[in-house]
Amino acid sequence: MAIKKKKAAEDLNLNNIVSRQFEKAAAHVDLPAGLLQQIKACNNVYYMQFPVKIDDKYVIFEAWRAEHSHHRKPLKGGIRYSRMVDQDEIMALAALMTYKCAIGNVPFGGSKGGIKLRPRDYTPEQLQKITRRYTAELIAKNFIGPGINVPAPDYGTGEREMAWIADTYDAFHPGGIDNWACVTGKPLTQGGIRGRREATGRGVVFGLREAFRDPKAMKKTGLKGTLEGKTVAVQGFGNVGYHVAKILHEEDGCKIVAVGEYDGAVINPKGLDIEKLSKWFQEKRSMKGFPGATKTLANGADVLNLDVDIIIPAALENQITGANADKVKARIVAEAANGPTTTDAEKILLKKDILILADIYLNSGGVTVSYFEWAKNISHMRYGLLQKRADAHQLAQIVSATETLTHTRFPASVKDGLLRGLDEEDLVRSGLEETMATGYQEISDIFYNNKKVTDFRTAAFICAIQKVGTAYLQLGVFP
Ligand code: NAD
Repeated sequence: MAIKKKKAAEDLNLNNIVSRQFEKAAAHVDLPAGLLQQIKACNNVYYMQFPVKIDDKYVIFEAWRAEHSHHRKPLKGGIRYSRMVDQDEIMALAALMTYKCAIGNVPFGGSKGGIKLRPRDYTPEQLQKITRRYTAELIAKNFIGPGINVPAPDYGTGEREMAWIADTYDAFHPGGIDNWACVTGKPLTQGGIRGRREATGRGVVFGLREAFRDPKAMKKTGLKGTLEGKTVAVQGFGNVGYHVAKILHEEDGCKIVAVGEYDGAVINPKGLDIEKLSKWFQEKRSMKGFPGATKTLANGADVLNLDVDIIIPAALENQITGANADKVKARIVAEAANGPTTTDAEKILLKKDILILADIYLNSGGVTVSYFEWAKNISHMRYGLLQKRADAHQLAQIVSATETLTHTRFPASVKDGLLRGLDEEDLVRSGLEETMATGYQEISDIFYNNKKVTDFRTAAFICAIQKVGTAYLQLGVFP
């Protein structure tokens, strides 16, 4: 009797997955092999263990900050708080940051940091002590600074942690006029920028809109028209998942039929009320018992297998694997999370002609608006402050002259819109839309003009590798 060979378990190491994605693309890039290896390599990693006094105990925390590429400075990348954080994950996420910045023409190198902890296990006061100690470690080793390395929020962190980081950095650098540019994603009242909180989610929506404007991409998916009426399932209802669901529902007319969280999923085929669900989740920290659901699932990740048009993983990596990719019925996988699709899963999805909008393009809205925040901090001036009123006055004169000459009145809604002038949020959204549209254009040009490139992710990697490679070729390697 023939012995059936057991299938080897899939390699779920994110660093290996990103390496494979890189190699697949690098085969299409005309750069010296050594240079390609340098573009792929993580330049340095700072691993630390530090003590924090929690109640009457000394607790040792493990943490990292990886600097993937210094071809542009400062380096940029989020800080993650999760029990799953390890060195390979942080190195992989730092690499994704380099490629993301390159695609969006954000002039930074890639970095990432993390502390191995579950935020729910600590009080805000304890989290503050841990965050400040981590920041002090980064300062001591020159791994943070407005011109060196600029963190931002990621999984498990938000504006609160960024404010603590900024304040700690400021305390160690008295009089530093650019201190507040040492971290982005800060509260608006602490040097933050309007539109940063929603930026990653809004960037995902801009990316999806671009895909729906691309007839060749849509033909493959079999989806027609715009996003209006399309059914969507979202996994992860944190910063990114909530905003992407809210914007798709409110501005694009999508039906968000399912939202999955760590403790289960809620479903409503008519579309969930995202604001009510958000209120519920904020209060209860659970999906369980939400009255607006017609059905629930015990496992939040199962929303990825539902019969919908678009699935949006917005939680963690390795969610669509070789083990469950066969069950995916959606026509588009919109990677709001970093690394949600494994190598084996990707092969299966591509065979089914499912469009995968890759993380290094699709979730780059966060770093794009972080760049705007950093630039705002070093210029010490709110966007739109100088020109908003001047533009509005000028437009008022044009409107008035046009009305006099044509003996017609502008509709009130049009007039109000014109005379309001553009504030910071308008300008941030406009910059983000431009970045996402240009990124899609550059990636699809590579995809459609190279028959050997068979998927969108590989095209995105080629786009990034070529740009980082060009920087190295122009600058040389010194010393
Ligand atoms: P977050 O901490 O605000 O939210 C993540 C949510 O996912 C949490 O509510 C958590 O409970 C939930 N979750 C955890 N495990 C889950 C599971 N198995 N199934 C369903 N839900 C689960 O984090 P975030 O900032 O929204 O980040 C989410 C993803 O987006 C991460 O991969 C992150 O790297 C990526 N990302 C974030 C940003 C940003 O600006 N925050 C930018 C780019 C990419």
